[in-house]
Amino acid sequence: MDLSKMSKEEKRHLVETQGFVQGDVWGGPRKKRYYTPDGRVVYKPPSEREFQRLDKNGKVVEQGIRDANYDEGLLDTMPTELKLYCRWCDKWHDTEQQIEDCKAKQKKLETWGMEMARRMHPKDFEKADKMAEFEDRLNKQDEKLDAILKAVGGKR
Ligand SMILES: [Zn+2]
Repeated sequence: MDLSKMSKEEKRHLVETQGFVQGDVWGGPRKKRYYTPDGRVVYKPPSEREFQRLDKNGKVVEQGIRDANYDEGLLDTMPTELKLYCRWCDKWHDTEQQIEDCKAKQKKLETWGMEMARRMHPKDFEKADKMAEFEDRLNKQDEKLDAILKAVGGKR
């Protein structure tokens, strides 16, 4: 496809039918139009990867270039049934329950990651722990002071 030899009309046709963005046809970064499963339109450069499929004798039966953006869940047409965007894994799920499950899973991973980090770099956490402890103590004293002031009828 030689874009420089195409007429304006042909280019416009390409933009409308192939989902290419004008910046692509008229220069600039090459981007494509995708739809997210939750129904948004995004423009991003295609993430092209070469792929090869081998038969059991190791002979190439299929090869070409595929767009890894589709593996991420992006679509080339507007989805008819919208999915829910999940901010925990940056992907999409069918139900709220699945998002809740995903959140629980991510939180668990996070906690586990923190525990591992603590075990491997305890020194880095000493200061943060001390600060948290100090803050905690201040808060408690604040509460006590509030209680005392309330008891004597004053206001802070
Ligand atoms: Zn998720």
